[in-house]
Amino acid sequence: MDQLLEFLTGVYHLSWWGYVAVTFVLTHITIASVTIYLHRHQAHRAIELHPKVSHFFRFWLWLTTGIVTKEWVAIHRKHHAKVETVNDPHSPQVLGFWKVFLSGSELYRKEALNTTTLENYGENTPVDWIERNLYSRHSYLGIGIMLVIDFALFGPIGITMWAVQMAWIPVTAAGIINGVGHYLGYRNSETKDTSRNVLPWGFFIGGEELHNNHHRFWNSAKLSIRRYEFDVGWLYIRILEIFALARVKYLHGRKIVDWVRVKKLRYLYFPIIVKYQFGVGGS
Ligand SMILES: [Zn+2]
Ligand SMILES: [Zn+2]
Repeated sequence: MDQLLEFLTGVYHLSWWGYVAVTFVLTHITIASVTIYLHRHQAHRAIELHPKVSHFFRFWLWLTTGIVTKEWVAIHRKHHAKVETVNDPHSPQVLGFWKVFLSGSELYRKEALNTTTLENYGENTPVDWIERNLYSRHSYLGIGIMLVIDFALFGPIGITMWAVQMAWIPVTAAGIINGVGHYLGYRNSETKDTSRNVLPWGFFIGGEELHNNHHRFWNSAKLSIRRYEFDVGWLYIRILEIFALARVKYLHGRKIVDWVRVKKLRYLYFPIIVKYQFGVGGS
């Protein structure tokens, strides 16, 4: 009986702010996974990620959102390609602000069923065994497992924490970025679309708040432009770079040279060049 009661009340008993802090950390990892893995790495190829880091983010998204990489990437690329037209999956200029703000995830789910979108815009996304047999095939299993984990660790309050986790992306990404990010805020660049920077400090939504900057330099690894702007996603990418777990490919429209690869190629080809020159000279 005691064991059952122990199970029902969870392993950890925290103060109220402890639960808030844990929930915030969990949702922050999810938002980091969206901005670093789905958006900057998969959709725009602005950065390379070490396979282990890339897979961690993919696993975490399966566990906390049920998002399928190919669907998210395809819908997002289509947004850039067809921005503010009737074919834009979530334009507040076409569909109305409240529709996108309140029903952003509904619009997402509807577009995810469009196989033409997935075929046309979902290229170069994972198709390995685990993607086909687990992440894509059982996309909702992960969030079910997360519910069990939250309940086992924190008891009944774990269900509330799980609900916040589930609401985080629909509210912040689908609602605030897709809705407010094309409606309210300031602009650094006169892009053809109506994108706006929701806030100059991108922390709670991983730097995605700087949406006008993103539409100006869509394949840039860094979303802040001005000195006073802050992009926490960029900070995490720089930290990953220190440990050779990420590499920046594009920065504000500039291609970044991979000197490590250039050096490797030089050492690889140098003996061949010498041999070739010697051969030519000796003949
Ligand atoms: Zn946009
Ligand atoms: Zn984008």
